[in-house]
Amino acid sequence: MTRQQRFNHIIAYFEEAMPDPETELLYDNPYQLLVAVILSAQCTDKRVNMHTPALFGRYPDIPALAEAEYDELFSYIKSISFPGNKTRHLMGMAKMVRDDFGGDIPMTVDELVKLPGVGRKTANVITSVVDNQPNMAVDTHVFRVSARLGLTVRAKTPLETEKQLIKYVPTELVYKFHHWLILHGRYVCVARKPKCGECGLRPVCPYYLKVVSKGMG
Ligand code: SF4
Repeated sequence: MTRQQRFNHIIAYFEEAMPDPETELLYDNPYQLLVAVILSAQCTDKRVNMHTPALFGRYPDIPALAEAEYDELFSYIKSISFPGNKTRHLMGMAKMVRDDFGGDIPMTVDELVKLPGVGRKTANVITSVVDNQPNMAVDTHVFRVSARLGLTVRAKTPLETEKQLIKYVPTELVYKFHHWLILHGRYVCVARKPKCGECGLRPVCPYYLKVVSKGMG
């Protein structure tokens, strides 16, 4: 099986199994998505979703967040991981969007990564989800699942994974592909003990064939 055939098979599987994958973060507009993605670093989407309704009620837009007081903003996100850093990132992000981007969330990766708290992964998520740009966000799930499925070969960094995936995934499917691998990694191909028994990709999975089925997983 060539690598392109492997991609085609896996894409066909997910098209059938998960036709409309979506982010599990709750949001209504680009501002809310950016805040939620910043908050979700090293934290579960579920926990972020528990706190964002009140946060968005108090800070409904960039001007409101740019005027936030540290202690009050902190109190809204204090049970999310790294609340101190994230409070500073949100305040800095909102001020920069207000002062340097006319109040609109920028929609290019190069501009987004200038914002505090926004790395390449976050910028790829925002531009692909909001604007359908073919940018592949690689998080820990995408990195792990791609390697196990043989979609990447010897990729050592998220950027290498991103570059390898983008070569084989049709442009219009990049956004979906990212969510497919995240959801598959979150619920089936989990880090410590992948649930291969319930995985429809078992017949084409090198990790299963080489490691799990031989009792080494
Ligand atoms: S067969 Fe197992 S290792 Fe392979 S993708 Fe499925 S869950 Fe992951």
